Amino acid sequence: MLTSRRRFVLGAGVTMAALLAGVTPGPGQGKRRTRLILLGTGGGPRPRKVSSAPAQVIVVDDVPYVVDCGNGVARQLVFAGVSPARLRHVFVTHHHSDHNADYGNLLLLAWASGLRTRVDTWGPPPLEKMTRLFFEMNAYDIDTRIADEGRGPLVPLVHAHEITQPGVVLQDERVKVTSALVDHPPVTPAFAYRFDGPDRSIVISGDTNRCDALVKLAQGADVLVHEVLFVSAVDRLVARVPNAITLKKHLIDSHTAVEDAGRVAAAAGVKTLVLSHFVPSDDPLLTDQMWRDAAKAHFSGEVIVGKDLMEI
Ligand SMILES: [Zn+2]
Ligand SMILES: [Zn+2]
Repeated sequence: MLTSRRRFVLGAGVTMAALLAGVTPGPGQGKRRTRLILLGTGGGPRPRKVSSAPAQVIVVDDVPYVVDCGNGVARQLVFAGVSPARLRHVFVTHHHSDHNADYGNLLLLAWASGLRTRVDTWGPPPLEKMTRLFFEMNAYDIDTRIADEGRGPLVPLVHAHEITQPGVVLQDERVKVTSALVDHPPVTPAFAYRFDGPDRSIVISGDTNRCDALVKLAQGADVLVHEVLFVSAVDRLVARVPNAITLKKHLIDSHTAVEDAGRVAAAAGVKTLVLSHFVPSDDPLLTDQMWRDAAKAHFSGEVIVGKDLMEI
């Protein structure tokens, strides 16, 4: 009962948010071969009531390509109607915990949900070591389920690939994935990813300062999902934490002001800019209209204020 109530609330919220953003959710989206669903839109590692941690899924002809694995990604996939058992590719933009905390959990829980097929994972080093150590840490559960529930082994299904240079990451029969090195000190490398599907191109910025490599990667894309920071609200944000001064420096040096996300979208000539990875994401004084207006100051295309479980 609780679950169905929660589903209803989330469903209604998504519909309202999507309508406000000017997109048509639900059946109309199904005609697209390349779908984008935002799974988590709040930036930063601190768990929040209002939004899940960064993650999105691009679904091409029903095959899911997950980008980033913030806390809760497996459950958000379920809410989005994408079975974790169908997981095929996972991309990690960079190794901050708001983007990778549930990397291993996604693999484990997909397997627990019935995954029987190969999964390829892609991201900066030490992705291979993280994958290996995660399986080692969870060997008791994995071995128990194999023996007790008759499951096939998990470890041989997962193939981790470390990316150190920008360029084409993957090309299969559905999509071409290209990465760019973005500017997110001190984390290096940090990547943005572009997905060129059969009917749409979608770019995920990852975390970055305003960045020319991202402008180049996103050139002419249909959709750019860009991380955003509201500079005037950062002081209110950092006032609530003990590491305020260091945190403020990181936020300003390593992220993109929402006005600059508009500039990046304009310079890249994208059709739609989707704001996500909101910092702060739970400041009651910040409204959707404030985010939208700031992004539109330098960008005349469509601006969508991203919400968890919104399909674009
Ligand atoms: Zn982040
Ligand atoms: Zn980061």
